[in-house]
Amino acid sequence: MNASIYLHVPFCKHRCAYCDFNTYAGQESMIPAYVSALIKEIEFVGRQSARLPEPPTIGTVFFGGGTPSLLSGTQFASVMDALRSTFTFSATLEATIEANPGTISPQKLNAIRKAGINRISFGAQSANTQELRMLEREHDFFTVIEAVSTARKAGFDNLNLDLIYGLPEQTLESWQTTVKRVLDLQPEHISAYALTLEHGTPFGKWAQRGLLPLPDPDLAADMYEWTMDHLEANGYEQYEISNWAVNRGFETADRQMPPHACRHNLQYWRSLPYLGFGAGAHGYAGGYRYSNALRVKTYIDRLTADSQSLSAEFPLSPAAVNHHKQALQDDMSDYMLNTLRLVKAGVADADFRSRFGSGLLEVYPKEIGELVRAGLLEIKTSEVSKTSEVYRLTKRGRLLGNKVFVELVK
Ligand code: SF4
Repeated sequence: MNASIYLHVPFCKHRCAYCDFNTYAGQESMIPAYVSALIKEIEFVGRQSARLPEPPTIGTVFFGGGTPSLLSGTQFASVMDALRSTFTFSATLEATIEANPGTISPQKLNAIRKAGINRISFGAQSANTQELRMLEREHDFFTVIEAVSTARKAGFDNLNLDLIYGLPEQTLESWQTTVKRVLDLQPEHISAYALTLEHGTPFGKWAQRGLLPLPDPDLAADMYEWTMDHLEANGYEQYEISNWAVNRGFETADRQMPPHACRHNLQYWRSLPYLGFGAGAHGYAGGYRYSNALRVKTYIDRLTADSQSLSAEFPLSPAAVNHHKQALQDDMSDYMLNTLRLVKAGVADADFRSRFGSGLLEVYPKEIGELVRAGLLEIKTSEVSKTSEVYRLTKRGRLLGNKVFVELVK
C-alpha cells in the first residue's frame, strides 16, 4: 500500500482574523510535550501497521498547521527520525513543511533540510502591506523575499508560495501586482485560494454585522480568470483548481502531472490513503476516515505512556476521537469531489470503473449529462489509455466548482 503522512502543528504566534484552522496562539510552551506525543502516536500506529499483510510505503510527509516552522530544527529531526525508524519511506520521498516567512532563520532551515525535508511552502498571501495588515499577518513582502532567498541557500529547490485573492477592498491591479512580484521569485509552485469568510472567525462575524466590506464575487472571478491566463503564459501549469506548478524540471513517473505538482496533496485529490498525526489531524486508511482530538492538551493527555498498551485497529491511535468505516457510496462521492479538482487529468471512466466496479455513467447517469449540457463538465479522450473517457471541469466549471460538486454528492 502506498500512503502519505500528515502531521499537524497547531501553534501560531498570533491567531489571524480570517483563519478557522485548528491552531492556538500562546500555547508554545507545550511544544516539547506535543512533539513527544506526536512521536508516541507515530510509534503506536507504526506497531499496528507492521502487523498488516502489506505495511504502507510512505511516499509523502507533510507538516501542516498552524505554523510548523515554530518547531526547532532538532524537533523536526526527532519527528523525522521517528517516522523513518517506524515506516518504510519511498526512495523518492517528498517531505514538505509549511512555514511563516517571519519564523525561519538560516540555521533552522539548514537543520530542517538536513532532517530530510525537501519541500517548503511559505504563507506569503499578498505582496501588499495593507492587505497583509488586514489579514493580520505579521510579515511584509520583504520578509517573503528574504525567506525565499534563505530557503534557496539552504538547498530547497521545490518551493511553494501560498496566496489569497478576493480580499475586502482588493483591486484587480493590486492582485496582479502580487502575482507578478511572486513570479519574480520563481517559485516552483503557486497556490492561490479565494478568501472564504468562515463561520465563527472574526472575519465571518464582522462580515455578518456589515463591518467588513464583502469581497465582490464578480471581481474575485475576474482575479481568478486573469490568474489562470497569466500563470499559464508564464510557464505554470494549472493542475488543480487552485494550484499551479512550473511545467519543466525533472522526469517523474506521473505523466499526468507537472514535475513539481504537490505529490502530497495529489494523494488527497486522488482519494488515496494517508495517516494523520497530531491534534485535529484527519486520516483516511484501512477503510476508515478518522480525526484526532482537537485541543493540544487533550491530544497530549491521550498519548500518555499508559495508552501505548491499548489495542485499536489500524490506523486508529488513542488520539482518534471520531472514526467511521467508509461506505461505497461515500467513497465514490469523495472520489468525485477530490479527483474532479484535477483540472487537466479529471476523472477517467476506466479508473473509476476499476476502483468501484461500475462506470461513471452508471452511477451518475443524469447528473453528468446535465453538467455537460450546462457547460460545467467536458468529455475528453484519456491521454494515458487513449480509449477511456475523461470527465473534467471546463473553465466555467472551475469558477463554479461548488455547483458541480453539489450535484455529485449523493
Ligand atoms: S498563521 Fe496561518 S494557521 Fe496561523 S492563524 Fe494565521 S492563517 Fe491561521
